[in-house]
Amino acid sequence: LNRRLAEFGTTIFAEMSALALRTGAINLGQGFPDTDGPEEVREAAVRALRDGRGNQYPPGPGIPELRTAIAAHQQRRYGLSVDPDTEVLVTAGATEAIAAALLALVEPGDEVIALEPYYDSYAACIAMAGGARVPVTLRPDGSRFRLDLDELRDAVTGRTRLLLINTPHNPTGTVLTREELASIAELAVERDLLVVTDEVYEHLVFDDAEHIPLASFPGMRDRTVTISSAGKTFSFTGWKVGWITASPELVTAVRSAKQFLTYVSAGPFQYAVAEALALPESYFTGFRADMLAKRDVLAAGLEEAGLTVYRPSGTYFITADIRPLGESDGIAFCRALPERAGVVAIPTAVFYDHRDMGAPFVRFAFCKQRHVLEEAAARLKSAG
Ligand code: PMP
Ligand code: GLN
Repeated sequence: LNRRLAEFGTTIFAEMSALALRTGAINLGQGFPDTDGPEEVREAAVRALRDGRGNQYPPGPGIPELRTAIAAHQQRRYGLSVDPDTEVLVTAGATEAIAAALLALVEPGDEVIALEPYYDSYAACIAMAGGARVPVTLRPDGSRFRLDLDELRDAVTGRTRLLLINTPHNPTGTVLTREELASIAELAVERDLLVVTDEVYEHLVFDDAEHIPLASFPGMRDRTVTISSAGKTFSFTGWKVGWITASPELVTAVRSAKQFLTYVSAGPFQYAVAEALALPESYFTGFRADMLAKRDVLAAGLEEAGLTVYRPSGTYFITADIRPLGESDGIAFCRALPERAGVVAIPTAVFYDHRDMGAPFVRFAFCKQRHVLEEAAARLKSAG
C-alpha cells in the first residue's frame, strides 16, 4: 500500500459488518436499510433489464432520462435550474462522486477543509488526491453537534482550495441551518473557495429542520459541486447510483476523473432511478415520516439503556455518548458490544483526526424495522 493510503486500512463499515455476521448480532453499524425501496422502482429496474435498456455501456454523463429527472427534482424541490445536458453527471454512488470531485479539483498540497467527524471516504479521497485535510470539529452543544463558524473561518489559509461540507451530517445527524449555510457561502465567496457538498441525506430531515442546498446561496452556483445518491433516498444502497449537479465547467472537470474511475455504471438501475425521482411527493413524505418514527424508537431505547442521545435532525444515524454507562472508549465499547449485548454500532472516533474528541461517541443506524430497533434497545438495556 502506498504512503497516501497507508493510514486507512480496512473501513470500519467492513470490519463491523463482518463482526455482525460472525456474532449474529443486530447490525446497527453500517448504514443500510433492512427493507428495500419501492416495489415499482424495483419493477422498473427489471423492465429495463428485460427490455435491454442499459445492459451495455450507458452514456458517459448518465442516461438522458436520469439526468432530466435529476434536473427536474432540483427545480421542483429547491427552485434550482439545472441543465440536464451540461450540469448533471451520474456516478457510481455518492462514493465515486466524492472521489472524482476531489481527484478533479484538488492539486497536490492543497488544503481541504472537512467537518469532523467526517464520513470516512472523505479522508481517503483527499489523500488519494494528494491534498492535506484540515478538520473543523462539530462540537456537542446542548442537544446537537454544532459548527463553530469562527473556527471554520480561522481554518482557511492561502493554501485552502476547497470546503467539503456534508448536510444533513453523517454521523452526528446535524442539519446545518440557513444562517450557518449562509455564513459558509459568504466565506467561500470571500476567499474564492470551491465547495463540494455531500447532500445524500437531503430527504431525511426531521422536526423543524430544513434541508437547503448550499448551491442555492448567492455566489455559490458556479463554485459548488452538489452530491446526492439514490442509495439513501430510495433505499437501494446496492445499486450504486449517485450524481452530482454543478456548473458545466465543474461537471466537465469531475467527469474527466470519473471517466477513468468507472467510465459508466449501473445501466438498468439508472432507468429505474429516473422513475423513482418522479415518484409523487407522498413517497418522500412517507419515507421521512417512517424514518422519524424509527428515530424516536431507537432514541427512546438508547436513553432507557442509559446513553446520552443527541437526537438527530437528519440522516438515519444517532450519535450517543457512552460516558453515563461508565465507559469512555467508543472503539473498545463497539468491539465488545456484539458479545456483550448482541448489537453492533460504529465508534465515531474513527471519523476524527482528533480521536480524543470523538472517543466517547458511538453511532447507531436506525434505518431498520421497528421490531429490530426494539429488540436492539431491549438487549442494550439488559446488558446494562
Ligand atoms: N456520503 C455520506 C455522508 C454517506 O453516509 C454515504 C453512505 N454511507 C455516502 C456518501 C456514500 O453513498 P453511496 O452509497 O451512494 O456511494
Ligand atoms: N454510508 C453508510 C454509513 O455511513 C455506509 C458506508 C459504507 O458502507 N461505505 O454507514
